[in-house]
Parts: sequence; C-alpha cells; structure tokens
Amino acid sequence: MKSVAIIGGGITGLTAGFCLQRSGVPVTVYEASERVGGAIRTVRDGGYLAEFGPNTILETSPKITALVRDAGLESRRLDPEPAASARFVVRYRRPIEMPGSPLGFFTTPLFTLSGKLAVLREPFVRARRDGVEESIADFVRRRLNREFLDHAIDALVAGIYAGDPEKLSVQQAFPKLAALEEKYGSMIKGQIFGAKERKQRGEVAKDRAPKFSFDEGLQVLPDTLRERLGESVRLNAPVTKLTQTPDGWSVEFRQNGRPQQAHHGAVLLAAPTFKLAELEIAAQRPLSLAEFGQIRYPPVASVVLGFRREDVAHPCAGFGMLIPKIEGFKILGTIFSSSLFPNRAPAGHLTLTSYVGGERYPELASKSPEELYDITCADLRVLLGVKGAPTFRHHYFWPRAIPQYNLGYGRYRALMTDIETRTPGLFFAGHYRDGISLGDSIVSGINVADRIEPFIASNVSSRA
Ligand SMILES: Cc1cc2nc3c(=O)[nH]c(=O)nc-3n(C[C@H](O)[C@H](O)[C@H](O)COP(=O)(O)OP(=O)(O)OC[C@H]3O[C@@H](n4cnc5c(N)ncnc54)[C@H](O)[C@@H]3O)c2cc1C
Repeated sequence: MKSVAIIGGGITGLTAGFCLQRSGVPVTVYEASERVGGAIRTVRDGGYLAEFGPNTILETSPKITALVRDAGLESRRLDPEPAASARFVVRYRRPIEMPGSPLGFFTTPLFTLSGKLAVLREPFVRARRDGVEESIADFVRRRLNREFLDHAIDALVAGIYAGDPEKLSVQQAFPKLAALEEKYGSMIKGQIFGAKERKQRGEVAKDRAPKFSFDEGLQVLPDTLRERLGESVRLNAPVTKLTQTPDGWSVEFRQNGRPQQAHHGAVLLAAPTFKLAELEIAAQRPLSLAEFGQIRYPPVASVVLGFRREDVAHPCAGFGMLIPKIEGFKILGTIFSSSLFPNRAPAGHLTLTSYVGGERYPELASKSPEELYDITCADLRVLLGVKGAPTFRHHYFWPRAIPQYNLGYGRYRALMTDIETRTPGLFFAGHYRDGISLGDSIVSGINVADRIEPFIASNVSSRA
C-alpha cells in the first residue's frame, strides 16, 4: 500500500496520521520544528503549569471522545472543577459574571434595559437571506444592537479569534450563527429549535460543550500521538517541495540540514497557510499555494503569571474574563487557569493566563517580556485587585497566532476544494479550513483521514 506524507505535526497532522496508521495506511509525519504539537505548548515549571496556546479542548463531537479513548488517554483526562463554569465579562471596569439562565439575563448588570429588550426583539427581526456576506459586527448590530456588539461580541471575538468583529465574516467565522438565521429566521429561535437536531447528530453546541485537558496539560495529547506513531514522525524535517509523479508525490524535505526526498501516494497539507504558501510545487497542472500567504494571522503574546492567593482580591472562581475594547484595557482577556485545573499552581497560589495583541493591539504582542509583564500586571491590578509581584512568570510570543476568517475568506476555502478536485492526492485540513479551535482541528484530522484512506486503497501499488 502507498504511504501518506503529512506536512505538519500539529494536532491536525498527528490526529490524521494516528487514524490512518490504525487503519493500516502507512504514514510519515514531517514536522519542521524539534517538537510536536504546533500551537499546543505546555510548560511545567515547579508547581506551575503554563499553557501558551490553547488551555482546553471543547468536546463538541463524539469523535474527540473516541480519539482520547483510542490514544489510551482516558485515565489522564482532566475535567475542570465544577465551580469553574462561571465566565466573566468586564463592564464598568470590573468583571461581571455572565448570566446562566433567562432570569439571570434579565437581572444582570452586564446589559442595560435597551440591551435586554434587543434580545426580546431578536426573534421578530426580519431574517436576511440574500446570501450577501456580512461581518459579525454588522450581523450583531442588525439583529441585536450596538451595545451587544461593544460589550459582549467584541470581547468574545477577541477571546476566540484575537480578531476584529468589523472584519470577521459571520458566514465564515461563525457559520452556525449564520445558519440559525438562514434556517430558523432568528438566533434565539434557532437555539431553541435546533437543540433537538444537534442532539440527534450527537453534536454539542460550543457554549454547552464540556471542556477538558490532561493531568500534565494539553501537550499530553500530541506527545502521546507521537509515541503511538513511533518512527513515522520525523522532527526537524521541514518540507520544501512537492513534485507530482505518475503514481503519487515526491516530497523534498531537509533533515539535519541536508536535503532529502521520499515518495508517497498522497500528501496532507496540515501546516499553517503562511508556510504552505512557501512550498514549491511542481504538479501536472499548474498549481500554486502562494495565494494562501495572504491569510492574516495576527500576533499574540500569552502571558502566564503566578500569584500568592492572598495577593489577589478577586475569588477568580470561574473560567476567566473576557474584556471588550471599549473598557480601555490592554489585555484581551484572562483565563483563571488554576481555578479550572487546581494542579496548575502550587497550594496557596493562582495561575492566571492573559493574552496581549491580536487584531486589537497587534503592536503590543511583540513587546519585551518586562513590558508584557508590566502591561498585564497593571490591568490585573485594576480588574482582579492583584497586588505584589508575581511568584511565577513566563510568556510566549506567537508572531502569527490564529487565522482570521475575515470577509472574503470563502474564496480560500473554495480554492482548497478546487485544488483537491483538480489534483488527486493532495488534501487540505486543519485550523485554516475547518474551524480554528483545537476540537475543530481534531475533527478535521479525523475526517481527512476518512477521505484519504479510500483514495490510498483505490491506488494500491508496489511503490512507496
Ligand atoms: C495563543 C493561542 C491560543 C489558542 N487558544 C485556543 C483555545 O483556548 N481553545 C481552542 O480550542 N483553540 C485554541 N487555539 C487554536 C488551536 O490551538 C489551533 O487552531 C490548533 O492547535 C491548530 O492545530 P493544527 O495542527 O491545525 O496547526 P498547528 O498547530 O499550527 O500545527 C502546524 C504544524 O506544522 C508545522 N510546519 C509548518 N511548516 C512546515 C513545513 N514546511 N514542513 C513540516 N512541518 C511544518 C509547524 O511547525 C506546526 O507544528 C489557540 C491558538 C493559539 C495560537
């Protein structure tokens, strides 16, 4: 049977490789760096555990549960503390708990009376079904009101995409929201009536999906998949060129600085698009991935700070706080990491993970570590009543963090589908195609393996 070249040892590539190998399809995962995991990056230092990339996996699909089981990781799975379900949004320069029930919504100080009335009115706002693409900001202003955009959605968008609501496409970045209007005429009606259909499909809405991690952080997942894949993973092996041959693809890569070559039946492109755009490709039909280099990934710095419990006035009992731009702070938001998972800090201490930069303040992300700690501590002093110096501090700079599914992003997705159709044996999957979350990337890896397997099976040959 021919083998599959997987470019990128992030969660998408590793998941796809693991699934293919379990189905008996030989794979090689080429990873440019010296480690697996890509955007997943966990550091254990003393009693602290820092997550510089994602902090949790949202279990939106039974496929994610199955992957954890198949990887043998059920016993290492860590569910959050039940008390950590509360989420806060900053308004009036303080964190306010988000309401968890309809009654709570009508009594919360998070929204004014006019904001609350906008929600009551939403089911009666005429649905727009003209197929014209709209930003999430325009969508929210049209269906709710400006207050909802400025005080809720802006913060949510910063928390998920580190993005700009005026630029993100509702159809591309929040397709389920757009689909609710299309199908039910209203987000609120869709939430109510769509619940039954989601249950039938075994899916869970993102706002209700359980979150989890592992005893030693999310890095456990890529590290375990790498172990299961064994010799099939090549580290320090950036792929530089792909050449289509009559029966597959010749893959050129560097290993220990030396150029090397291998032959495979199919190629999965699971690296970020700005890296795919650099690949040299010689295909039977002219083909270039250069256009994908235009996809914007704004810079983000993750700042992880530890404090003595008594030095933080706020109880931090919850998942974390989202911060709308209008509130005037520099950080985008903070995860109360050790409230979620107590083993992320030594006894009597807290770990707080904050994010700086994104589309809101891209210039701040690349500041020096000292400046980033100062920026973060200054905001945490006001918001959480933090005093004293941090007992632990670490940061990580992502020059290109998260792809922005901005207005017009559909043309990149259409181009991927077009290339896959015209160029048999080339597959696209991962955060740039099927949703930016970790859970989406895992499902994307599983689904692409399901597409690659029959392709390889139907092209059995003695080579590669
Ligand atoms: C700061 C931050 C916070 C996040 N927070 C969350 C969160 O809280 N929840 C959530 O669900 N998601 C979150 N995400 C998103 C999620 O982590 C990613 O979308 C997901 O991990 C992407 O996985 P991937 O495998 O598709 O890509 P990546 O993780 O980017 O992996 C791609 C891999 O390809 C490799 N590569 C690049 N070029 C080449 C080449 N030429 N040859 C070989 N290999 C190459 C790279 O080194 C990398 O290892 C966050 C992301 C970031 C950056």
